[in-house]
Amino acid sequence: MKEKIKSILDKYQTDASRLIDILHEVMDEYGFVSAETISQVSEGLRISEAQVNETISFYHFFSDKPRGKYNIFLNNSITSCMRGFKDIKEVFEKESGVEFGNVGSDGLIGLYITSCIGMNDQGPAAIINDRIFTKLTPYRAKSIIKGIKEGKTVEELVYEGNGDGNNAHPLMNTMIVNNIRMKSLLLNNDYKKYEIIKDYLTKNSPQEIIQIVEESNLRGRGGAGFPTGLKWKFGSKMPGEHRIIICNADEGEPGTFKDRVILTEYSDIVFEGMVIAAYATAADMGVLYLRYEYRYMLEFLNTQLAEMRNNSLLGDNIAGIKDFNFDIRIQLGAGAYVCGEESAMIESMEGKRGEPRDKPPFPVERGYLDYPTIVNNVETLASAVRIIKNGAEWYKSFGTNDSLGTKLLSVSGDCRFPGIYEVNWGVSIKEVLEMAGAENVQAVQVGGPSGTLVNVKDIDNLTKTELMKWYKPSGMMAAQKSFDRKLCYSDLPTGGSIIIFNKERDILGEVVMNFMDFFIEESCGSCSTCRNLPYIMKQKLIKIIDGHGVRDDIDDLLNWGKIIKVSRCGLGQTAANPVLSSILNFRHLYEEHVKAMTDYDNQFELAKSVSAANSFVGRKFIHHNS
Ligand code: SF4
Repeated sequence: MKEKIKSILDKYQTDASRLIDILHEVMDEYGFVSAETISQVSEGLRISEAQVNETISFYHFFSDKPRGKYNIFLNNSITSCMRGFKDIKEVFEKESGVEFGNVGSDGLIGLYITSCIGMNDQGPAAIINDRIFTKLTPYRAKSIIKGIKEGKTVEELVYEGNGDGNNAHPLMNTMIVNNIRMKSLLLNNDYKKYEIIKDYLTKNSPQEIIQIVEESNLRGRGGAGFPTGLKWKFGSKMPGEHRIIICNADEGEPGTFKDRVILTEYSDIVFEGMVIAAYATAADMGVLYLRYEYRYMLEFLNTQLAEMRNNSLLGDNIAGIKDFNFDIRIQLGAGAYVCGEESAMIESMEGKRGEPRDKPPFPVERGYLDYPTIVNNVETLASAVRIIKNGAEWYKSFGTNDSLGTKLLSVSGDCRFPGIYEVNWGVSIKEVLEMAGAENVQAVQVGGPSGTLVNVKDIDNLTKTELMKWYKPSGMMAAQKSFDRKLCYSDLPTGGSIIIFNKERDILGEVVMNFMDFFIEESCGSCSTCRNLPYIMKQKLIKIIDGHGVRDDIDDLLNWGKIIKVSRCGLGQTAANPVLSSILNFRHLYEEHVKAMTDYDNQFELAKSVSAANSFVGRKFIHHNS
């Protein structure tokens, strides 16, 4: 066995559940995982080569084929596409002589497309050798390739300063700007570092901590909205040799970047939240699952943890509390949107493909390594700290009756001030658009592609009969109300992504197609519904956009949208939402394409329809008249 591989395996005590970390180290050392390495890793960990292979093949940032010395992962999220993705892609290809998806013959440059990297407020963006390059233009893309060919380091390729105007720590060495536009209870500067651990936990029992969080009605901020206090209470009662707190920092929902900002500028409050959750539930192990795209924060975050250990805020007898032993490690993801789902994340943390588990059992009963596991979002943990400091009643004074507190919105798209807005629940979409300086708005995507595409057209005035004509798919909001809709948990929940589209945007051809591509790319493939239907729906959409749609096609889309709801996890269950939501709120666009609303397509072109199939079998379509 190669000495290097042996030392990597030894570093992780040949623990197969640390396969993701092992593969990261192999990728860092060799740039790919060769067949020989797969064999050595499999032997060393006593798992099959197939198991190693299936983990490698699942994640965007692992490869069993050599990658380039410089690897450019260009982000194709919708806002990136709206700001010149296509031109930048062309420049990268032309200047490097490499096509996307490949490495040049000299091994210098690899070009890849990747889903949202959490930079919607400053895209188009790309990751080049783990470093983020924002606000790309064709000129900048050309300069990057030129610099690479001249042998410049990635650091030398950077064209903007280190977090200009923000508090980015030098260790992050980043050009990212955090664009915090509005602060409230969470982002206020009155937070005193680790005050709760030092002064409050020592005087209050775990039950008292849970009670405050329960009374505040804090709900998970990742989008699902489960009551946090209840989750902590369940977790504290589950038997197990160990109990785990996971902080979910795998925000992959296109358009969301709030966790990026919290972790960059408020990481201490998140770690403090994890320690509080551990105290409340008697957990002894903590893991922050950091999406690979945020690897630039890793060194900084580890430094924060080391500082906490030095100050007895992690480790044994934390803050002098006898037998309160808890520590946190950071688990780096490897690029898979579905790992934001808590059970998929746990699979990934155990070194496997990030495929969601069947539930029950829920993670709180049997999660990471089969121990009771409490998974909380970054924003949720930070909110809990503020609640314990100021009390449940104080927290309840923010927001509305059924949606308490504040919400961090990640606002991007067609507006003058993209960025993070901490707003009270109950704010209307109209107000958010005004804050963000958005004009000439046609649509707003609330909650990312799996959320709702809101039409700014006020349809309150439509008659009930007219509204009833609009099919309302189950699981989606009962009726589109208006542009004045207020953000709240029960009616319009959101993980925080708000993407604005002006009237110039092509809602079907540009927006909905992009979102469907995202779901097609990110399905883990376990369920046939989620694996196949988004692709089939996209083909149907293309047919409609191309002017070959008939009345039944819209009904087919709606029916398939119902079928896909039986998929195992939230990704599949919501994968049809871009289509369903646009039919619900932009039906006129479909009907414009299906002009005659005929029952059959009288312009069907057989040659065109079978050309793809013929290309696979290497045959030319022979027209019977030729
Ligand atoms: Fe995987 Fe999709 Fe099924 Fe979820 S719904 S388990 S992502 S195939």
